[in-house]
Amino acid sequence: MYTLVADHPLVAHKLTTLRDVSTPTHEFRRLADELVTLLAYEATRHLQVDEVDVETPVTAAKGVKLAGPAPMIVPVLRAGIGMLDGMIRLLPGAAVGFVGLARDEQTLVATTYAARLPTDLTGREIFVLDPMLATGGTLETVIRLLLDRGAAGVTAVCLLAAPEGLQRIAAAFPEDSARAPIRVVTAALDTRLNEHGYIVPGLGDAGDRLFGTVD
Ligand code: URA
Repeated sequence: MYTLVADHPLVAHKLTTLRDVSTPTHEFRRLADELVTLLAYEATRHLQVDEVDVETPVTAAKGVKLAGPAPMIVPVLRAGIGMLDGMIRLLPGAAVGFVGLARDEQTLVATTYAARLPTDLTGREIFVLDPMLATGGTLETVIRLLLDRGAAGVTAVCLLAAPEGLQRIAAAFPEDSARAPIRVVTAALDTRLNEHGYIVPGLGDAGDRLFGTVD
């Protein structure tokens, strides 16, 4: 598994404000959106291109276009929806599918309740959006679903990751036996999970903070 922790002053600055408990919902949403666009730039580095001819106002030249098939962006409901615009900004030609998983707060086990995706993802690069890579249970389930449908590669874009989650994904998809490359791109690798499965120091419940449902 390839892991990239974005090392950039703008990423660190925006993330610090996201972490701040006093950041209101409207600002949290805007910053999350901007942060995802910065992460999207890193997360799309491996995309293949085809050489094309282009006519500039001055001369004929060689250029490139993203190779097909169009990538697919898959936000994990609900919090991943808050990352969709930031990702689509850089990949306007991408298709969008949705997966929904519910986490049992006692066992922390995730079950799939929605998978609105083509059954055949052969050759497609997939970008999974999930703000918090915590236990890794949700991401593991989603990656398995995508690989089973033929995805050519899966890149998870996460605002934050816990070491426990990264280790779980690395163990579940060992490089030597993986069916396709698995990548995780995140703004920071935090310290640990607490007893409730929250990332520490983290930023709290990403869905609640994105959608203003904090009590
Ligand atoms: N999900 C969240 O929203 N926050 C965490 O810290 C962990 C999982």
